[in-house]
Amino acid sequence: MKISILTLFPEMFTGFVETSIIKKAILKEIIEIEVVDMRSFTEDKHNRVDDYPYGGGAGLVLMCQPVVDAIKATRTEDSLVVMMTPQGKTLKQSVSYDLAKEKHIILLCGHYEGFDERIRSYVDMELSIGDYVLTGGEVASMVVADSVIRLVDGVITQESHEDDSFSNGLLEYPHYTRPREYEGMEVPDVLVSGHHENVRNYRLKESLRKTQKMRPELIESRDLTPLEIKLLAEINSEE
Ligand code: SAM
Repeated sequence: MKISILTLFPEMFTGFVETSIIKKAILKEIIEIEVVDMRSFTEDKHNRVDDYPYGGGAGLVLMCQPVVDAIKATRTEDSLVVMMTPQGKTLKQSVSYDLAKEKHIILLCGHYEGFDERIRSYVDMELSIGDYVLTGGEVASMVVADSVIRLVDGVITQESHEDDSFSNGLLEYPHYTRPREYEGMEVPDVLVSGHHENVRNYRLKESLRKTQKMRPELIESRDLTPLEIKLLAEINSEE
């Protein structure tokens, strides 16, 4: 999979592509990341990419010409052009799974007041990482790229992400590692019992417990299995 990031601040991505799992995915040639400087497309003699908004008001607006020319130079018939904007559809794990099936994603990073509205005609999808406003789309595009890359086949094992929070609609169960006892807190016995089915049931139960406590709306909208109904009844009687 190829991910192209269209930005005015390419230097922000240096650490991103040179660290941890993202770096390994690039070295293994599973992922290609291309960082495109939109400023290099401007036809303005002073290198400007933004201008004052018609109608007045604060801030600067990204102009059509450099942004649209950068999109046109980067996209192919396989590309999905995604505009990073707080006004877009909210990123969820299910969206990341869908994006992980694409061949080429172009992430378009805004800055200042955002984009000239006409740029929206050149994008396939508008994506937000949450209901808050960032300075620019760079951090948001890293969030999207990171969440997508780890779901692409071969980047991490399927087992590593299929139990992750949200992947099956629940929050993930708690994890423990050595030591077995830390400042009076013990690792639950079942996890060291070696009994695989009991471990599976324990994890499902704790996953349900966490989800009910932290994100009850996920339980309310879930089509519960008979086992999940039984485990939730146990949880409710315990609490
Ligand atoms: N004036 C715009 C608005 O109210 O919708 C916000 C502009 S914001 C300061 C500048 C850029 O940051 C946006 O064009 C977008 O690319 C990015 N951005 C800010 N918040 C974001 C979010 N929650 N999700 C995705 N991108 C975001």
